Amino acid sequence: MPGTFDRPWHSGHRAGSTGPSLNIEIDTRDLWWMALRNCYDIHPDDFFPDDSYVPLHVLATCRACPVLNECRDHAITHQLTGVWGGLTARQRSRWVKNNHRRAAAAKQKAATG
Ligand code: SF4
Repeated sequence: MPGTFDRPWHSGHRAGSTGPSLNIEIDTRDLWWMALRNCYDIHPDDFFPDDSYVPLHVLATCRACPVLNECRDHAITHQLTGVWGGLTARQRSRWVKNNHRRAAAAKQKAATG
């Protein structure tokens, strides 16, 4: 069911928090994986570093998360900012480009034998 989506664990911003709130149209049936997330205890602001690094405690939490792939893919599909799937937006962009390169190389290799 489509609806306005705000990353659920971002609803508890501390007073004075400058963390952004997402407000995008999304099919909420695609959000099943959020119930399995590993980041209940991470402060929302920690998901929005300066985009050049992922805080170590967030990175460790994401790497142990059972829905890391779903989280990353969700962020890529909806072009979200902040850390999702253990990657910043810039890192996700690089990840997508590298995946496309690998896919193209595999396709070319399959075509040429
Ligand atoms: S990958 Fe990280 S940000 Fe995404 S749900 Fe898991 S712990 Fe949370």
